[in-house]
Amino acid sequence: MTEQRLATGYVAPTGGWRTATVAGLRRPLQRSVELRLDVHDRIDHLAGQHYVVRLTAEDGYTAQRSYSVASAPGDPLVELFVERLDDGEVSGYLADVVEPGDELEVRGPIGGWFVWDGATPALLVAGGFGVVPFVAMIRHARDLGRLDLLRVAVSSRTLAELPYAEELVDAGAVVVLTREPRGIRPAGRLTAADLVPLWEPGQTAYVCGSTPFAEAASQLLVGMGFPAADVRVERFGPSGGP
Ligand SMILES: Cc1cc2nc3c(=O)[nH]c(=O)nc-3n(C[C@H](O)[C@H](O)[C@H](O)COP(=O)(O)OP(=O)(O)OC[C@H]3O[C@@H](n4cnc5c(N)ncnc54)[C@H](O)[C@@H]3O)c2cc1C
Repeated sequence: MTEQRLATGYVAPTGGWRTATVAGLRRPLQRSVELRLDVHDRIDHLAGQHYVVRLTAEDGYTAQRSYSVASAPGDPLVELFVERLDDGEVSGYLADVVEPGDELEVRGPIGGWFVWDGATPALLVAGGFGVVPFVAMIRHARDLGRLDLLRVAVSSRTLAELPYAEELVDAGAVVVLTREPRGIRPAGRLTAADLVPLWEPGQTAYVCGSTPFAEAASQLLVGMGFPAADVRVERFGPSGGP
């Protein structure tokens, strides 16, 4: 195990390669899969960190991709939630081929910047599957009895396509839908008017989603006057490579 000292002074754990057994698998949404992994000799993660999953073909070809952890640090299993992309090399395999009891090669936890310490007030802004690391933060906050520290805004095309929708709504998330109305709010993109009521002094903002969403949401925050230095961004862009 290596460690990374954070700006906040505490240390983010970093784990090496491990074998994980698929202990649970569900498909609560179309075109996606929730995997519950029993990671052997696991190093506990911080909410917001991710794992790399590596697949190896019989001819030795490998592909690896990053996936955020949705489970709280106190959960005995590591939960991932993977969107199945068309022609997606790794997401397609995880969503369609993997079965309970299978073993996967994983490396983690990884990441020392996009983590929540469980004590700092935070504004969480997610687009689509960008909610995954925030589910870990919400679950961790609930375990600590500190849900009051988190303000959450999420954007999705429709409610049916939003991972963890019920859990997010229960945590008080503002849910913005771009393809259907929600209550009296017509369909439309996230705006500063959605975020301003969630802004409180001393918050760190975390933004997560596709690259275009992450850019747009960070610009909204900075445009509102949120200090750029207090905005942390995670982009779910293509993550292949060695
Ligand atoms: C830190 C981090 C955390 C991540 N966490 C998650 C997570 O929790 N859940 C999750 O589902 N994904 C997550 N991702 C994205 C994930 O790592 C992969 O990029 C994604 O699963 C696609 O891999 P693939 O092998 O299936 O697709 P590929 O075979 O690499 O690509 C297939 C096609 O999709 C395009 N593409 C690749 N990646 C993306 C993308 N992310 N968005 C849109 N188009 C893409 C490619 O250009 C190509 O056309 C995360 C990425 C990062 C960097």
